[in-house]
Amino acid sequence: MSFEPLGLSPDLMRAIKDQGYTEPTPVQEQAIPLILEGRDLMARAQTGTGKTAGFTLPLLQLLGKNARSSKRRGVRALILAPTRELANQVRESVRTYGRHLPLKSLAVFGGVGFGPQAQALRRGVDVLVATPGRLLDHLSQRTVDLSGVEILVLDEADRMLDMGFINDIRKIMATLPSKRQNLLFSATLSSEIQKLANNFLTNPMKIEIAPREKTADRVTQVVHPVDRSRKTALLTHRIVSESWKQVLVFTRTKRGADRLTKKLRENQIATVAIHSDKTQGARTRALADFKRGATRVLVATDIAARGLDIEQLPHVVNFDLPYVAEDYVHRIGRTGRAGMDGQAISLVCGEEHKLLQAIERLLEKPLPKEKVTGFEPSLREDVTRAPRGASSRPDAAQRRGRPGHPARPAFRGKRVKGSTAGSGTRRWSSSSADSSRARR
Ligand code: AMP
Repeated sequence: MSFEPLGLSPDLMRAIKDQGYTEPTPVQEQAIPLILEGRDLMARAQTGTGKTAGFTLPLLQLLGKNARSSKRRGVRALILAPTRELANQVRESVRTYGRHLPLKSLAVFGGVGFGPQAQALRRGVDVLVATPGRLLDHLSQRTVDLSGVEILVLDEADRMLDMGFINDIRKIMATLPSKRQNLLFSATLSSEIQKLANNFLTNPMKIEIAPREKTADRVTQVVHPVDRSRKTALLTHRIVSESWKQVLVFTRTKRGADRLTKKLRENQIATVAIHSDKTQGARTRALADFKRGATRVLVATDIAARGLDIEQLPHVVNFDLPYVAEDYVHRIGRTGRAGMDGQAISLVCGEEHKLLQAIERLLEKPLPKEKVTGFEPSLREDVTRAPRGASSRPDAAQRRGRPGHPARPAFRGKRVKGSTAGSGTRRWSSSSADSSRARR
């Protein structure tokens, strides 16, 4: 299908052509006509499906159609996003797709100066992309006027709930006019999301987009059992001996990210880190440098990596395993996109044994383990050996289970069925019926 039947204006069609898009993605095909009709929408779609253009294009068209009265300076479309990175990226999309339209846009988020944002808001903004916390600051300082909002978008709504923004979102909504169009995008449609939707959507249309299953099949996963103290050496070895051009490396903590960055640089490998202690400028620069290939390694924490739009990454390395098993799926979804083969490598030491088990339980299959010659783990650190007493001693999660009732799994979220690893999805909380329906 081409873009023509979707009913987008010539200015937007030009912007689409500038981008080189020839056909709409499934979420765009379904969402654009509904949004143009003025419907409320609840959409299950992950990063990578083209969801941003799916709501940005029709939103810009609606704003362009009903010109603003010259007196008002308030915001006309509000897009809430969980992280600064995502807010920035969505704003970039607004700019890209709206390049032939006379609409002003702005992103506001914490970690950067408040004053310049307030000044830009005073000059008038049509489309505001914001993280909830900073937007509340602007509301309390009366530096933003949301009384004329016509369209509200909640992007990555499940992430926002996970990050504890629900009260902030409620407070923000209370300042909006009750007559408006609402669009909710979320990677999962959990019962919490459903509750949120019931509260603020009016008679919504629901669309569900299958995660990019095909890309999943293209991700090879492997675990390298290794001593904790030798992880950096092993990573360096793989990068150098296989001449990796670009790799995204995940660490659990900000300090771990900084430490690893320093060590890789000492090994003459161009590396940058991206995490929430970095200034926004530093984060934006790091991402831009990585995207244009000026740096070889990007080290990121889970939170900082959320919503990062980096395409075609051949390698993702888990320098540490995540505490939350679902983050593993999210991390490895960063590779194997856009029809490229991807490799997800986890460096796992003895103390990560439980975390590895939780991930394998979530994936419902063991991950292949491969020891690298010269980096074989010591007996104590070897995760391929059952830890002593493991079979006779129940773990903490099992101990919490009541007799006759299965224990809760040690990872957060629902048990997942029918999903495969590396599907490019971030959270697999859908039921098996749900995901098989999505696949059809
Ligand atoms: P998103 O899911 O919004 O994060 O988008 C993922 C990527 O897909 C972005 O880099 C977009 O530039 C790209 N994209 C969006 N729509 C299309 C399209 N119709 N054809 C090709 N690429 C697209």
